[in-house]
Amino acid sequence: MRLPKFEYVEPKSIEEACSILSDESSAKILAGGTDLLANMKHRVEVPSVLANIKRISGLDFIRQDNGAIRIGALTPLKRLYKTTLVTEKVPALSSAAASVGSYHHQTMGTLGGNLCQQNRCKYFNQSQWWRSAREPCFKAGGGICHVVNKKEICYSSYCGDMAPILLVMNAKVVLANKGDSREISLQSLFSGDGKTPLDTKKGEILTEIVIPEEALNSFSTYSKFANRESIDFPIVGAAIWSSVQRKEHRVSFTAVDRKPIRARNIESVLKGRDLSEEIVEEVAGLASKEAALVKSSNYAPSYKRRLMEGLLRSTLKEAMRRS
Ligand SMILES: Cc1cc2nc3c(=O)[nH]c(=O)nc-3n(C[C@H](O)[C@H](O)[C@H](O)COP(=O)(O)OP(=O)(O)OC[C@H]3O[C@@H](n4cnc5c(N)ncnc54)[C@H](O)[C@@H]3O)c2cc1C
Ligand code: SF4
Repeated sequence: MRLPKFEYVEPKSIEEACSILSDESSAKILAGGTDLLANMKHRVEVPSVLANIKRISGLDFIRQDNGAIRIGALTPLKRLYKTTLVTEKVPALSSAAASVGSYHHQTMGTLGGNLCQQNRCKYFNQSQWWRSAREPCFKAGGGICHVVNKKEICYSSYCGDMAPILLVMNAKVVLANKGDSREISLQSLFSGDGKTPLDTKKGEILTEIVIPEEALNSFSTYSKFANRESIDFPIVGAAIWSSVQRKEHRVSFTAVDRKPIRARNIESVLKGRDLSEEIVEEVAGLASKEAALVKSSNYAPSYKRRLMEGLLRSTLKEAMRRS
């Protein structure tokens, strides 16, 4: 499959990259390209300009600063399981990175690109030829949704593997825009509309991911259920973070909704309680109520509900054993 025509630019600074994004309405950032270029080959994304930010220095780093771990958006996923600071302080982040796609995706793909990846849908992630058999859907520029009979919003799913573990650690992200920057919670990066999954302002670029110190000394884990052991997105992914001292347990899921979700109801049931077999069973039954599952993937919502329950049960039991 060939790429469509586009203009290729290599901005030398973050400011220059932000200007390109604000001046060109259909310009896109190119990081590792493992998500974007595949979508372009399918003609579901056809940007007029690609701004390759890999030439900008200072976006590829991992360091500890005042207790918090700061990771540059251009850091390759592979680095997350090859760097001692991460493997020792946040091993769950290392294993989440090792679960993404294949070794090649982990070498080329970046943490920023992973968080900013496009949502997925069985009617969208197809070749142009496959899609030509039906009317273009809302996300692909048409006026219809083949999943839900409404056209105000796209119900495609966010399927990234890195967001859940960062969400339970209350991670923050830094967004730069022409010499200015703002720090927001990772949760508020996601819009909840599959058509434009990121809630960013025009010209903004993700530059940094910040894991607060409070998240570092507790148990966390990410569990991914996929069809194959590699080169496969999660059918469902679940992360938990658990502090025995604070009696606080955080839960998140991916591939079950239009954005990665924190399971707030489950968290409030768990708050202030020690984990036990009874509590795990009580909350496992609540798992599927946290997500708005629709038929946007090849797997039935009922199957995904059972997976959510199973993954939550096994991750919480692991937390119990470790405590
Ligand atoms: C066969 C296959 C299997 C895959 N399996 C998985 C999987 O198991 N799990 C998973 O999570 N992903 C998977 N992916 C998706 C992808 O490989 C990863 O998400 C990867 O981490 C994306 O990073 P990247 O640097 O290549 O992003 P790119 O493709 O360069 O960019 C992805 C998107 O993010 C935007 N972007 C990139 N960087 C920034 C930034 N700093 N600021 C603002 N916007 C930015 C781009 O404009 C683009 O829209 C798979 C892809 C393929 C093709
Ligand atoms: S959910 Fe609907 S609009 Fe969104 S990608 Fe799928 S078919 Fe298209």
